[in-house]
Amino acid sequence: MKAKMHKPERSIWVFGDYRNYFQNRVTLQLLARARELAPEIGAEVCAVVFGSQVNEYVGEYIAHGAQTVYAADDPVLKDYSVETYLALAENLVRQYQPEIFLIGATDFGREFAPRVAKRLKTGLTADCIGLDINADGLLVQTAPSFGGNLIATIITPEKRPQMATVRPGTFKELPHDAAATGRIVPVPLPGDLPCARVRLVHCERKPLREQRLEDAGIVICGGRGMGSRAKFKKLFEMARLMGAEVGATRPVVHSRWVDHDCLVGQAGKIIHPQILFSFGVSGAIQHTAAIHDAGLIIAVNKNPNAAMMKIADVAIVADASQFCSALIRELRIRIRE
Ligand SMILES: Cc1cc2nc3c(=O)[nH]c(=O)nc-3n(C[C@H](O)[C@H](O)[C@H](O)COP(=O)(O)OP(=O)(O)OC[C@H]3O[C@@H](n4cnc5c(N)ncnc54)[C@H](O)[C@@H]3O)c2cc1C
Repeated sequence: MKAKMHKPERSIWVFGDYRNYFQNRVTLQLLARARELAPEIGAEVCAVVFGSQVNEYVGEYIAHGAQTVYAADDPVLKDYSVETYLALAENLVRQYQPEIFLIGATDFGREFAPRVAKRLKTGLTADCIGLDINADGLLVQTAPSFGGNLIATIITPEKRPQMATVRPGTFKELPHDAAATGRIVPVPLPGDLPCARVRLVHCERKPLREQRLEDAGIVICGGRGMGSRAKFKKLFEMARLMGAEVGATRPVVHSRWVDHDCLVGQAGKIIHPQILFSFGVSGAIQHTAAIHDAGLIIAVNKNPNAAMMKIADVAIVADASQFCSALIRELRIRIRE
């Protein structure tokens, strides 16, 4: 890996959101998708990293598919400041003029990307769940719209770059390739970089889940049909016995039976378990949009005609909470607990 100035003819950029690196892999997922799309428009895949002492991430992005990394590495950039990051991103895009600029739809990306798009007077499709290239070489951005009732296909024919934020979990990252090589282009800070008006005083990490819902092999999803917060808790006991993770529908999250972290669906996480248990879930499209990749689906619902029962491989007509208690008893016997 060698430092060298470099401006490719056409490029697809992925912004390096490395906060919570081990939990949040969306940057790597976007690099992987960018590598698939790049040959269709003869582009190079570039990552953009701002921060202080970011070498480790630069190496990671190259190992996961970035051919060039633009790295602004300076103590001034240690903490995210919207004014400085924005000015830097704007300068860089104007200088290198990428065709496409992708950013993860994380809390950070949702704040940062629209501002960058506004500065550059280009469009932005937020929260994409699909990216393709059409016959005209334009980025086809697929995103839920009108409250999730429609899936919109959006192109940006004139303005550049074509910008999108993309839902974590939409694409799969490439395996880590320690032998991969790439160019590193150091980005100097412009003299007129605005000072941060907001100062970060204290930062505290939320305790991490044991494993990420998005990566769990077994997920137990509960819906309103579980009946109450106390009954919903049974799902956590079942998950403990099975080594599973618990997911939930929106009404469950809204009723505060569980944290927003557990939300599965269009407004939450996309999951890919080998086995998905679904207890008291109706199977609304906003929920099922996030479980397409699930392997075996086992649904328990008192209504045999619920949409979830139709897409399940095993559909059990029963009271969800009672069935859960019976399953827990059986599991305890099997594992002699
Ligand atoms: C813009 C937008 C975004 C949304 N995003 C999401 C999202 O990300 N994730 C999400 O989940 N939802 C989302 N929703 C909400 C979604 O449309 C549904 O309302 C929601 O998924 C329904 O949750 P549910 O199945 O738990 O509840 P309900 O629709 O109330 O269904 C409860 C189910 O439990 C069954 N049941 C009832 N009692 C029992 C019992 N005793 N035993 C067994 N079964 C029983 C019922 O037959 C029913 O099928 C979104 C909606 C909008 C408009």
